[in-house]
Amino acid sequence: MATEKGKLIGYTDEECKNCGRLRVELWENGDKVCEKCNWNQDRGEYDFAMYK
Ligand SMILES: [Zn+2]
Repeated sequence: MATEKGKLIGYTDEECKNCGRLRVELWENGDKVCEKCNWNQDRGEYDFAMYK
């Protein structure tokens, strides 16, 4: 599924601010979104664009 986020770059070393897991993924457009709970680390809200 193509999204406006571009390509997935990979995991950051950050813990998710919402669920605390080390599953934050960095996207090409700079968005950092938790793989597990879809929390956008910078915007402080769920990133529903991640849901299929
Ligand atoms: Zn999370």
